[in-house]
Amino acid sequence: MKNLKNNYYNPFFSHIYVEKAAKDHPRTKRILQKFPQANIIFIDHYKDVFCRKRQNFILQQKTQNLILGTKQGNLIYKGAPVCQNFGNESFYYASCIMNCVYDCEYCYLKGMYPSGNMVIFVNLEDIFDEVRNLLKKHAMYLCISYDTDMLAMEPVAGYTKEWISFAETQINLRKQLKIEIRTKSADARFWQTHSPVPGIIYAITLSPQAVIDAYEHKTPSLKQRLASAKEAIQRGFSVRLCFDPMLYCKGWELQYSEMLKQIFAEINMNKIEDVSVGTFRVSQDYLKKMRKNQPGSAVVQFPYQNDGGVYHYSKELTEQMEGFLTDNLKKELPENKIFLWKL
Ligand code: SF4
Repeated sequence: MKNLKNNYYNPFFSHIYVEKAAKDHPRTKRILQKFPQANIIFIDHYKDVFCRKRQNFILQQKTQNLILGTKQGNLIYKGAPVCQNFGNESFYYASCIMNCVYDCEYCYLKGMYPSGNMVIFVNLEDIFDEVRNLLKKHAMYLCISYDTDMLAMEPVAGYTKEWISFAETQINLRKQLKIEIRTKSADARFWQTHSPVPGIIYAITLSPQAVIDAYEHKTPSLKQRLASAKEAIQRGFSVRLCFDPMLYCKGWELQYSEMLKQIFAEINMNKIEDVSVGTFRVSQDYLKKMRKNQPGSAVVQFPYQNDGGVYHYSKELTEQMEGFLTDNLKKELPENKIFLWKL
């Protein structure tokens, strides 16, 4: 949690809601031990708190509380069409933590969830069982850090570590499992205390510092993210660099070219897994809610174009921005390592 900037640093999770079914779970006990000062409130179901009507997402995110619950029903989902599959056919995602300690203005979670509080589902073993069942049928490309930043939550939940050891066992059993862990975290301790596992890709999202300052609140700086990516690569972890979402800002060409200069100076591009490029896009239902919640936010109030229920930049701007970035990346990377998201 050291990456969080001071003006946002509240005592984390001053109130923790615990679903009765999760009360005796070892993960609940382990997580609660980290917050000896917190007020613990027992509830029947996590949705009793998380899905209450008329909650203020933005206010709640400034003083986040935590809910420990159990996930029932569908535990693994098919990947959404607005997300990249990197050429993998069986593309799935898991949602074992909902919401994020970071506060990106453009984050689709602000349009998807009714609450800014965080939920950790403690019955991870049920999610693992479902993955095991699917792996009996086919290969899987599974993203486990879409509805949160799992690495940023590692000091609290320790779920990345659990996923790694689960995946390692499956991969050793010759199951065809590939996992992506997407993050803006820059906590180098993670690389120092874990080992690379083939098939686990750490997807580090990079943005120009001007974009980070304007929209990616509470996240580590570009310099910190690059230092972290560099260390991960040096220690043999598989690293994907994500320029997704690319965001329009004043002087975007200059901002993105400055960012690339910094990246090429710091990162050995021959050692990265691949890169992902995609301009901002979001479903119309989410954007409607995001606009209502953040009337003063330039990034959500931008006059996007709607195609088939997905808001995005105009064709011309999209091509300019993505073309600029991919042309520059091609100077350092073979084309087959550059994945460009297409509507
Ligand atoms: S880091 Fe990702 S999940 Fe977290 S707020 Fe930003 S965009 Fe959302």
